[in-house]
Amino acid sequence: MLLAELVWPPGTPRAGRSIPVYANVIRHPRGLVLFDTGVGEGSREVDDEWHPTLHPFDEALAGLGHRRSEVIGIVVCHLHFDHCGQNSLFPGVPIYAQRAEYAATRQKDYTVPAWVDFPGARYELLDGDAEPWPGVHVLSTPGHTPGHQSVLVDTDGGGVLLTGQAVYDLAEYEGGAPLDSEDPVYARSVERLRSLKPRRVYVSHDERVGGAAPDRRASP
Ligand SMILES: [Zn+2]
Repeated sequence: MLLAELVWPPGTPRAGRSIPVYANVIRHPRGLVLFDTGVGEGSREVDDEWHPTLHPFDEALAGLGHRRSEVIGIVVCHLHFDHCGQNSLFPGVPIYAQRAEYAATRQKDYTVPAWVDFPGARYELLDGDAEPWPGVHVLSTPGHTPGHQSVLVDTDGGGVLLTGQAVYDLAEYEGGAPLDSEDPVYARSVERLRSLKPRRVYVSHDERVGGAAPDRRASP
């Protein structure tokens, strides 16, 4: 579901262009699991730098036929302001993040601290891969941030991959060059996700939804 649009600030590779911010809803037999919660409200710094247009969370969820009370857990791909911004709508609900990611939020200007730590916040900190609910696989994919993670969901038709920002857009997942990283750790995470050959691929900042990864050994 689309939760926000941002505008790339001046001086960045895509200055002036719009960036969509998506979150995903996993319909698990036990209840709804969210992958990310988008951008929050009330940060002067974010408003001045990124000019967000917000889509109300409850309306986005209602558009999929759901409500907040059905949410049993949240997985955040990382804790930058545009992925955890509405965590505070869910006091008491377990939020799964990597321990390294949570530690990174102590750095200055890493995120909006009040959107990470709020009254009733309940973080479940992970050290690597985990399966918090049967069939919901949290995969450690560091690179964009030290504790980035992605999710692979088992479905009847095969795996559905939620990359988060392990790649910036679907073209990158499909083999394009990364936007802003030549880090080998980042590249290894991307290769790991490609090797899963999921039947569907969702990327946080891309409206396009992908299918199976191309087999790079096959001739065109
Ligand atoms: Zn980020």
